[in-house]
This record gives sequence, C-alpha cells and structure tokens, in this order.
Amino acid sequence: MVLAVHGERAWLIRQARCYPDPRPLDVRLAGGSIAAMGTLAPLPGEQVIDAKGACLLPGLVDHHIHLRALAAKAASVPCGPPDVEHRDALINALKLAPGTEWIRGIGYHESVAGDLTCKDLDQFEPSRPVRIQHRSGRLWILNSKAIDRLHQTRATQADLPTLEISSDGRLFDQDQALGLILRAGLQGGLDHDAIEHVSAELASYGITGIHDMTPSNGPEDFAYFSALLEQGRLYQSICLSGLESLQTQNATPLIRPGCFKVHLHEHQLPSFDATVARVAAAHAFDLPAAIHCVTRAELVFALSVLEAAGSHAGDRIEHGAIIEPDLETWLVDLGPGIVTQPHFILDRGDQYIQDIPAEEQAHLYRFKTLKTLGLRVALGSDAPFGAADPWRAMRAAVARTSARGHSIGPGECVSPEDALAGFLGEFMAPFTPRSLTVGLPADLVLLSKPWAEARHRLLADDIRMTWHHGQVSYRLAA
Ligand SMILES: [Zn+2]
Repeated sequence: MVLAVHGERAWLIRQARCYPDPRPLDVRLAGGSIAAMGTLAPLPGEQVIDAKGACLLPGLVDHHIHLRALAAKAASVPCGPPDVEHRDALINALKLAPGTEWIRGIGYHESVAGDLTCKDLDQFEPSRPVRIQHRSGRLWILNSKAIDRLHQTRATQADLPTLEISSDGRLFDQDQALGLILRAGLQGGLDHDAIEHVSAELASYGITGIHDMTPSNGPEDFAYFSALLEQGRLYQSICLSGLESLQTQNATPLIRPGCFKVHLHEHQLPSFDATVARVAAAHAFDLPAAIHCVTRAELVFALSVLEAAGSHAGDRIEHGAIIEPDLETWLVDLGPGIVTQPHFILDRGDQYIQDIPAEEQAHLYRFKTLKTLGLRVALGSDAPFGAADPWRAMRAAVARTSARGHSIGPGECVSPEDALAGFLGEFMAPFTPRSLTVGLPADLVLLSKPWAEARHRLLADDIRMTWHHGQVSYRLAA
C-alpha cells in the first residue's frame, strides 16, 4: 500500500473533467480551497499536474464507519481457523506480528492449541506484551509481559478501573476496563499508528471525509480525534455521532459533532418513552438522530420514535437492512434519510439466500425503490463490519449479486452515477451530492480516466491522486 503524504499546498490541475461536466478545464488549489476554475496559467511555485482529460471528483465521504474498530482489526493478528490451524502456526503468527509493542491476536479457538494460558503465551512470545481474544469475543488471554504492563499503567493513574485477571492470565467480559487501561498506557503509540495507517488506506480509495457512527462516541473521543488531526495523522475530515454530550463540542473545518446515535437491538429494545425523550432533547440542541435499524421490528420502533419525538431534517435510519413495502408510506411521511450498505448483498448474499425467504430477499438493502419514492439515500461502509472500499460498495449497488453470482433484488440496482452520489454528500447533508465549486475545501479525487470509462469499472485502482484540504493525501506510485 502507498502511504499517504501530506504536502505541497498550491496545485494547478490542468485539463480535468470536473464531474459531472464533461468539458476539460483547469483547477487551482490554494490555501486548502479550490481557488479558481477555468483556463489558467501556472503561478510561480505551483505544482502542475496534467489530468489529460481524466475525471476530477469531489472527495468521497464514508457516511457510516467505525474508525477505531477498523484500525484495531487491521492491526490484529488472526489466531484461529482458517488462518491459524495449529500450535506451530500460532507461534509463527506471533513471531511475524508487525511492530515491536503490543500484539493483539483475534479469533482464537481451542482447536489451535487447547485452553491457552499465560504460561503458554510466555513460551510462545516472551519479549512483547501479548493479548489474544477468544473467538467468542468474551475472553482475553494475556502473557506475563501484558499483565505487568497493565498493572504498571493502572499504578500511574488513580482513576483507572481494576481488572480481574485469573492466575492463568484470563480476563472475562472486561472489555471496557481493558480498553480504558490500554488507551491510557499507549500515550500516542500503537493506537495512533494503526489509525493513521487505516486513514491512509481510506485516502487511497479517494475518501476525504468520514462519519464515525460508534454509539459510545463522546467528548473524549472528540478530543482524541482532534489531537490526531492536529498532529497531521488523519487524512480525512471527521464527523462524530454518538452520545448527546457531543453537542457541547465546537465544530472546526476538520471535525464536527454529527448525530445522536440510537443503537437498537430487537431482543432488548430500550424504553420507548425514554428514547422519545432523548431524541426530542437532542433535536432541541439541533442534533439529529441516527437510528440503527437492521430488522423490521427495529424500523417500526425507530419510525414510532421519530413520529412521537418530531422530525429533524437531519434524522437518519442507519442500514435499513430490511424495508418492507407496507412501511414505505410511513417512511415517506416522516422522511428520514437512509444510510445503507448494498455491499452486504455481495458479502453476505449467499447466506441471505439460505436464511431469508425468497419473497423477502428483494427487501434487503434497497436503493432504487427508495429513491423512486423520493426518499434520500446515502452510503457508508460500516467498516470494519463491511469492507472499507467505497468502489466495491458502488459495484455492489450496481450489480446486486452475491459472491457466488446470485442476483438478489435486481429491481433495486442503480446506475453507477446514483451509486457514486451516495458517497458525494456532506456530513450533515449526506443526501445531496457536492460538486466542485470555487471557494469549497479542496477535497478532490483525480482519476486516471474520464468518468465515461471509469463508470464501467468503478475501481479504486483508477484513482491517481487524492487531496484533503488542498494537501495530497494519496498518490498512485509511478
Ligand atoms: Zn455501524
């Protein structure tokens, strides 16, 4: 992967076709903004790039992502099947783990090396702190170095929680406490590196803005991401949705609070009245609600909440995994936007075909019908739960076929232009595509070909350069 490079503030891009206009023109970037468009001569000190008639797009925005979880996954070592099947493979995987600090293993299963203990891990890897998560997600196994490190961090800060680690190095159901202590101990180390790495990867997809929808996001997370932006270690502007307390945070050109995130689980729905009160209170602070809905029951609950609390123009349904026809009129009446993930058709489609009755499959991750009904639709990856590449999501929205090539709800297929529009909106107006205009932030993606060709491929490989606020955040290796 090519790492992002911040640098070179003044640029003249010549002969670019600014999407959707097919006529080539020159675009000047200065001071982080689009300074001029037309027929332009180079200025002294300006970097000049010849687009040769290729397409120039507004930078893409991923409207639903979990950046920290994505970084954690990218920086983790698989420790279970199918990647790691036996004891020697596990030892080898730990030996090859990148970096010099903490090793975070995931997906462990007893079939690899039995009931793993601290003693085993000390044998496998004595020199670095190691923590390995069981596939169930409820258990971590630590080596001695890891236990020492956690105790040291706890000893330096009185307000950190205690951990109950068993004598064989096992930690059950204590993820929140573990996360707090780990973060306190990192002091800008590994966590930051891992986040910078995935942020650079997103830049290589042409992403210049991300909306992080992690429900627990609050003022601490806002401060955390603000610091990373100040250090130049993030290549996207960020909008944070999460707790109501985000409304106390001040927006800057690079970071802003988003929505109050309501996370629903159909088997454990929250109190209806309390949810209505929280959404209404958020609305009073001009904070829209973003409600997680993957089942019919969750969507009915969400629409009932919006009906009772009153709507805000920025309210959103996250995922809309199943939208049945009998709920369409209600949706249209209330009018929330829908931020969806048609790429789950590609990722999980073959499973859906097995698990979901045929007549309901057409109601999964709908897109075309929602637009036809006048509903507003935007796209987000939901990474790390979905793949982070927005071009893959666009291809999935256009094709709607499973990995094995089965068509699912072909009536919901959209054009490449509709799919692209799903990533072109602003943070608080994700449903209205931006276009390139003088005075706007220079968040841009230069392709290596005109849109008329790129639309048939929808490949991140066709990206030549990405700029975030006028600085190069990705450049294809020559
Ligand atoms: Zn999500």
